[in-house]
Amino acid sequence: MDKNLLYEDFFDGGLPEKFLKLKDEVLKDLRENFNRVDEISELNTMKVLKAMRKLKISDAHFKTSTGYAYGDIGREKLEELFAEIFKAESSLVRTQFVSGTHALATVLFGILRPGDELISLTGTPYDTMQTVIGHSRPSAGSLKEFGISYRELDMPGGEIDFAGIKNFVTAKTKIAMVQRSRGYSMRKTLTTYDIEKICSVVKSVNPNCIIFVDNCYGEFVEVREPIEVGADIAAGSLIKNIGGGLAPTGGYIVGKKDLIELASYRMTAPGMGNELGASLGTPRLLYQGLFNAPHVTAQAIKGAIFAAGIFEKLGYNTRPLPGEIRGDIIQAVELKSPEKLTAFCRAIQKYSPVDSFAAPEAWDMPGYENQVIMAAGTFVQGASIELSADGPMREPYAVYLQGGLTFEHASIGILSAAQELQNLE
Ligand SMILES: *Cc1c(COP(=O)(O)O)cnc(C)c1O
Repeated sequence: MDKNLLYEDFFDGGLPEKFLKLKDEVLKDLRENFNRVDEISELNTMKVLKAMRKLKISDAHFKTSTGYAYGDIGREKLEELFAEIFKAESSLVRTQFVSGTHALATVLFGILRPGDELISLTGTPYDTMQTVIGHSRPSAGSLKEFGISYRELDMPGGEIDFAGIKNFVTAKTKIAMVQRSRGYSMRKTLTTYDIEKICSVVKSVNPNCIIFVDNCYGEFVEVREPIEVGADIAAGSLIKNIGGGLAPTGGYIVGKKDLIELASYRMTAPGMGNELGASLGTPRLLYQGLFNAPHVTAQAIKGAIFAAGIFEKLGYNTRPLPGEIRGDIIQAVELKSPEKLTAFCRAIQKYSPVDSFAAPEAWDMPGYENQVIMAAGTFVQGASIELSADGPMREPYAVYLQGGLTFEHASIGILSAAQELQNLE
């Protein structure tokens, strides 16, 4: 078998010899990092299995429910399972959450009351959270309209301002929000060590302050999760890491029992809470996706590390650096031009299993400040645990690459993007 001929046949225009060498080099340089990822994946698989055995997950839990779905044992067990894995008192895991933003907004609207103060300790939150809060970007129905005050603490030089937190939290602060992942910015991604430190500083100033972690893209990247390092409540999307590529839609919230209860009244209606919500054929996908999630997350991280290695060698600024400890599955690469950002996303799309014939274009996505270009040739629409790349059309034209249900696919997409960038030079 002539490997080069196979590459020649697979990649449009062939893949230059140079890239094949680069691939081998990067894989060799980063072997230790890859081993570490496998180790974490094994530990997290044990964590999930242990919880599934303890809670005696069975075929009966995969049965679907309809209507109000009172007494749905599959739904109740799944929420127990999430609580167990996150070491939380309680959880909500629902396909009725249309996205991560919806789950995050449910926490904020569920807990905050007029006159309360919300703060962000990790700078400007993710684009879609800005319209939920409504202070930097006015929007109808936002927390601002309900009389919630808001301040945010910057991350100078992209780093957490631990000293600043002490003065920023006051006796009046109801919720301190912490975003684990970088979002569309080049700032540092938080590890659970960082979150642990933030929690201890916040609680030393105001023990009643509720620490809320936006855990999007962070699940199973490390062996610990936010609740066990001191956060009170955390939320995220089921079509990112924790859905393992199988969850068809949804979001989750984990945390203290009283806070989850408040969120549940916002999720359904006051007085109803978590006792309703039909699963409509999804249970097995959510359970099996959760079982797959540690491995799938590891595949995605390997893709991210590989991308960092390749693009660093090609002279691009990458965040994180190839060998850096990771707190999420995102790999940012500064491309510095709209043409390169577009070419990158088109390459990822072209070598996707779904909609490979489509050419992504930047568009005005609801909730986003700038035009955004997105490549997502995914089985689940827009699922970013599948190989996907996107970025806002603004300086420094960074592309945010994430996902890959298999490392093989991630590697193919990354090499094709490298080739497209070279064609522009
Ligand atoms: C993805 C993400 C969200 C929520 O996005 P959805 O597309 O609504 O799921 C929120 N915060 C961060 C940091 C994210 O990465």
